[in-house]
Amino acid sequence: MLETAHSLIRDVGKKIGLTDWQIDRLIAINAEHQFEIKMDSGKSHKAYRVQHNNKLGLYKGGIRFHPDVDLEEVRALAMLMSFKAAAVGLPLGGGKGGVSVNPKMLTAEELEELSRKYVRHLQQHIGPDKDVPAPDVNTDPRIIDWMVHEYENLTGDTSRASFTGKSVEKGGSLGRDAATGRGGVIVLRELLDKLGKRGLITYGVQGFGNVGSFFGLVAEQEHQNWKMVAATDSSGGTYEPKGLSAQKLAAYKAGSGRLAEYPPDAKAISNEELISLEVDVLVLAALGGAVTAKNAKDVKAGIILELANGPVSEPAYKALNARGMLVVPDILANAGGVVVSHLEWLQNRASEQWSEARVNSQLEDYLVKATDEIYSRSTKAKMTLKEAAFAVAMDRLVKQ
Ligand code: NAD
Repeated sequence: MLETAHSLIRDVGKKIGLTDWQIDRLIAINAEHQFEIKMDSGKSHKAYRVQHNNKLGLYKGGIRFHPDVDLEEVRALAMLMSFKAAAVGLPLGGGKGGVSVNPKMLTAEELEELSRKYVRHLQQHIGPDKDVPAPDVNTDPRIIDWMVHEYENLTGDTSRASFTGKSVEKGGSLGRDAATGRGGVIVLRELLDKLGKRGLITYGVQGFGNVGSFFGLVAEQEHQNWKMVAATDSSGGTYEPKGLSAQKLAAYKAGSGRLAEYPPDAKAISNEELISLEVDVLVLAALGGAVTAKNAKDVKAGIILELANGPVSEPAYKALNARGMLVVPDILANAGGVVVSHLEWLQNRASEQWSEARVNSQLEDYLVKATDEIYSRSTKAKMTLKEAAFAVAMDRLVKQ
């Protein structure tokens, strides 16, 4: 993942005329913090925070709790955050954190202990004007609320601007839970419009979790001509050519249902089958590496929307591109989350709570503008959307 990010940055950097020295500076990481979290139980977990670049503003990026977390992954994700924030015109830098742990094996008390100890280790390196972490895979508002509380206890800071992704009662923003999915809908809508595709659009969602379900819910509310025909989670999924109701699926998932069993009489579908479905848009909202060199040849969708981080590997990306498919890159497609994180931070700084409508309208402004800028760059410079997104980001990062 890290090497892929480096080679992409080098390629695009050269295309837009940057020197090797400028590219090296874009890749360079400002600071890395690695430590062991020792639990009262005697177990210990490797933990990280990587602060990639803060030229455009404070470091911003999630904290991931997952057994596969390692320094290389955190470095790559921190770097992508710098480019994501810059690509959509946010005054933010990029960082990322993680703990190598399977949170499903922890009790609620242990999860709280882990979250609080993570903050104790990092206290001097983070803060409302330095580095503002957020949730990521397996971290949620409850965990972020513990972290904010710990940070307040340690520093006396009461702004609640030390983390974003808090619960709304503890200073979180309205609209944050849906922001990444909603952002994906906005970006896709804008691109379809530019491509002149205004008729029926069928789509399948891999990973009907937080991001995937909100994508479906917002799409259902706002676009009657978009039809979700399939959705999966880690258990597999369901396929219904007549269309699935995102609302019903979300309610079923909230009751801890497995999509492989939804509803008992519908056609079950595996994740591999979903990837090869005849749909207009394939929405990838699960994890990285969903489409690889191995299964890229099976993809039939004309548009692939990267809502997860890095769901299309570099060789797959090249193969899809060569077949004329449009991959909407993660740093644009899933930027809704970091946009609303920024809006949450602004609200905390001003001691305000904005209406959901105000938050959504600002999210819309950021992403309409960014999609337009990136799309124009891609057509003018004959670049893919991904290259164009990185080019736009690099211009901002180099100019500063
Ligand atoms: P989540 O855990 O709520 O949802 C992930 C979903 O994917 C779950 O339904 C899970 O069952 C499913 N899944 C896991 N493995 C799968 C597989 N092999 N095949 C099909 N489905 C599978 O997580 P989330 O918050 O929705 O995040 C999803 C992705 O989006 C992650 O890559 C995350 O980094 C990225 N992302 C999230 C946000 C955000 O705001 N939450 C922002 C930007 C990017």
